[in-house]
Amino acid sequence: SSDKGKLPLKVLIAAPRGFCAGVDRAIEIVEKSIERFGAPVYVRHEIVHNRYVVEGLREKGAIFVEELDEVPDDAPVVFSAHGVPKSVPAEAERREMIYLDATCPLVSKVHRQAERQIEKGQHIIFIGHEGHPEVIGTMGQVPEGRMTLVETVADVAELTFSTEDSLSFLTQTTLSVDDTAEVIAALMERYPQIVAPRAEDICYATSNRQAAVKTIAAACDLLLVIGAPNSSNSLRLVEVSERLGTSSKLIQRASEIDPAWLDGVGTLGLTAGASAPEVLVREVVDKLAEWRDIDEEKVRTMDEKMVFKLPRELTE
Ligand code: SF4
Repeated sequence: SSDKGKLPLKVLIAAPRGFCAGVDRAIEIVEKSIERFGAPVYVRHEIVHNRYVVEGLREKGAIFVEELDEVPDDAPVVFSAHGVPKSVPAEAERREMIYLDATCPLVSKVHRQAERQIEKGQHIIFIGHEGHPEVIGTMGQVPEGRMTLVETVADVAELTFSTEDSLSFLTQTTLSVDDTAEVIAALMERYPQIVAPRAEDICYATSNRQAAVKTIAAACDLLLVIGAPNSSNSLRLVEVSERLGTSSKLIQRASEIDPAWLDGVGTLGLTAGASAPEVLVREVVDKLAEWRDIDEEKVRTMDEKMVFKLPRELTE
């Protein structure tokens, strides 16, 4: 066969992996908006953090911008899955624009909790990564000065609140489950009075993808994560693997794989972040097959059935 002479490579493909319900919905909102309003439809920020997805939508008629002031008044605009500060829809209203909000419902849930905590007079400690659009969006739900960002246990140690202050906490949806548990433990130890969110803010897709990596990592010599360098949930998958002692690389496309990475690798793990489409997983397997004789196995740790409804403007 043509595989003669190729070394075998076992490929363990994690499941769940790739697209989550929030990403599916966001992409559909852009596609349906283009159908309904005609091109171009503007999108504020990369709809999801994946270049392949963004390029595909651009070809269909989406124009990606970073700020609302780059969008003409009379063109429809979609807000990305990561969510936006309150000032953004307010500005769109003021300009009487047609806007569609592709904020993931699980991010919106955190936004609503933030509002409620502020109504109760609590100061919110928000656990998240500085500069990430979701963090900017969530912090922009509350009046300035009412929310404090922490990233690490060390940040918690530097907080200057007292045990008398009315405090609560919330988290970004795409954090490391394990790191966040440590930060929360540190917060509760310093501030026993702090009020926790009603339910875990880290979303099902983030925790399921991390759990799936934990299941296969120990059996792998190397784990590839398909995802963008600005994709929080994808970066966390690399960390989960490395923490279990399995070296891991983040790649956007198959073309980024250096064949030298495979030296001495008998079993390779493969997964994809929540914003990476399945076609890229196939592309990676096909690329690996150019060098090695592939034996592919899917390792499913759980099923996902989550589906989110589209905004009413697109279904009426
Ligand atoms: Fe929503 Fe989670 Fe997907 Fe983000 S990763 S879009 S929070 S389901």
